[in-house]
Amino acid sequence: MHPFEYVRATDSDQAVAVVTEDPSASYLAGGTTQLDLMKDGVLDPDRLVDITRLPLGGISHTDSSIRVGALTTMEELAADPVVRERLPFVWEALLLGASTQLRNMATIGGNLLQRARCRYFRDPTVAACNKRSPGSGCAAIAGIQRMHAILGTSDHCIALHASDVAVPLTALDALLHVQGADGTRTVPLTQFYLPPGDTPHIENVLRHGELITAVEIPLLPAAARSHYIKVRDRVSYEFALTSAGVALVQEDGVIREARVALGGVGTVPWRAWDAEDVLRDAPAGADTFLAAARAALGGARPLPGTAFKVELAQRTLIRTLETVAGAES
Ligand code: SF4
Repeated sequence: MHPFEYVRATDSDQAVAVVTEDPSASYLAGGTTQLDLMKDGVLDPDRLVDITRLPLGGISHTDSSIRVGALTTMEELAADPVVRERLPFVWEALLLGASTQLRNMATIGGNLLQRARCRYFRDPTVAACNKRSPGSGCAAIAGIQRMHAILGTSDHCIALHASDVAVPLTALDALLHVQGADGTRTVPLTQFYLPPGDTPHIENVLRHGELITAVEIPLLPAAARSHYIKVRDRVSYEFALTSAGVALVQEDGVIREARVALGGVGTVPWRAWDAEDVLRDAPAGADTFLAAARAALGGARPLPGTAFKVELAQRTLIRTLETVAGAES
């Protein structure tokens, strides 16, 4: 393991200043991804700034939103009664997202920043990985692709974004509060992640040294009637092959508002805008759901190892829509 200096931050201004001034420095929070990657030789920061003692945890509510401190653990958020009652698909995604042990360590900020699960990215003995070594190629494109993306891919990277909770948060237009050396800013989650394009090593809009301090989740009426379905190779401790998060508002059998996002298929948590357009003001029924699912996957670029995901993702979305709408299959 690459030797590194450990710094325990005493306040967020100090933490941001230290990391901003040192290109080889990183933050350390729950560490459930980062320490694995350091042990595997994928990440090699010279300095780790431990932010776990900063007052960035806790959950507060207003009538219209929940503010979640970035250091709040997944388990703490899942235990919040408002999340369970008013954001059921967020609650479900949290519980399906990791084992109990991991949920007690992993922070919300860290979950949203988790790195690719691509086996080639995580194995430094594999030379070709544009995300780990820009310009080196992509071993996955001619390799094993089962856990890779079909939406938002490029010729340079097909790695999946593996967060579960990011899926309903994307559907809800959650906001990230960010602190940097020049002050604070707010970034919509739908604009936070960057598709790989020809720079797969740049995964989001954070500048070096910027720190996520909180996630703000709107308490939308649609979210009270929502559901998250995750399809995976085994029933626990596994990443999604496909997943869908859906929230609906219906009146007399007609969908008035639809929020739809997909997991397991996108290089970023995938907001299915085209599906929402199909669903809005349409009757809640099988024909509408099939059309929405086809629209959601319309831009898919499957490879031989991921071709199965096109139909599986459509079926996952249809099942989720049926469940939320209370419609018969
Ligand atoms: Fe690297 Fe992306 Fe290719 Fe995986 S899919 S080997 S992360 S470039």
